[in-house]
Amino acid sequence: LCGWIAVGLLSPRSGIFARPHLGAAPGARRVALTFDDGPDPEVTPRVLALLAAHHQRATFFVVGARAEAHPELVRAIVAAGHGVGNHSYAHAWSTPLHSTARLAGELVRAQAVIQRAAGVTPRWFRPPVGLFGPRVESAARRAGLQLCGWTLRSNDASLYGYDAVRVRARVRALLQDGDVIVLHDGAEGGRRPLLMEILPDVLALLDERALRSVTLDELWGEPAAPQPLNATAAAAPPDPPHPHRRSAS
Ligand SMILES: [Zn+2]
Repeated sequence: LCGWIAVGLLSPRSGIFARPHLGAAPGARRVALTFDDGPDPEVTPRVLALLAAHHQRATFFVVGARAEAHPELVRAIVAAGHGVGNHSYAHAWSTPLHSTARLAGELVRAQAVIQRAAGVTPRWFRPPVGLFGPRVESAARRAGLQLCGWTLRSNDASLYGYDAVRVRARVRALLQDGDVIVLHDGAEGGRRPLLMEILPDVLALLDERALRSVTLDELWGEPAAPQPLNATAAAAPPDPPHPHRRSAS
């Protein structure tokens, strides 16, 4: 049983606890680069410059506290046409153990920070350290967020095998059409992110294979309506459409 719990918490593919969005069907030559744990004042601007040079789009799963410290970076991400996702407010390792109410409160807090910084409300939540659990799922739903997993973890932030050469080789060996790829533009514990030693090669690989990176919204479709910040907002019915609003003149 403990084994199953571990698999359910650690693997978004298991579907034991939660059913996050993973990759996309192959065939459209599309992937989604995602960057977790930022924004970082040294790394994130360089990532934005590289993405612009390769005409690729990505989604940044920002940590609320870091977005609060660097709102200009969140604005720059959005202004460049990339997506922003919610990666919790404090990025605590104990997140799956928190009560649903506490977790939902933290997600709403991060949503508010991002909304204030860049005027966008994320649809996607990726839990810190990739730990999915039943409380994480209900907290995300309460905060108006959907769970986002991945299909290709680059291991660029794992303590074991923290090595740019191995990460580049791993991505080259595993990358497939339809993948959602996890990279990190921020790092925990004072380490420097490996990303700038990895990203040029990943972008070259996309060019070689004629793969286009798109935002998660583009990969999985645009939202039908703005996502609510809390359950109260969710209960309010949307305004009816006004098909004839435009004047005839
Ligand atoms: Zn993280």
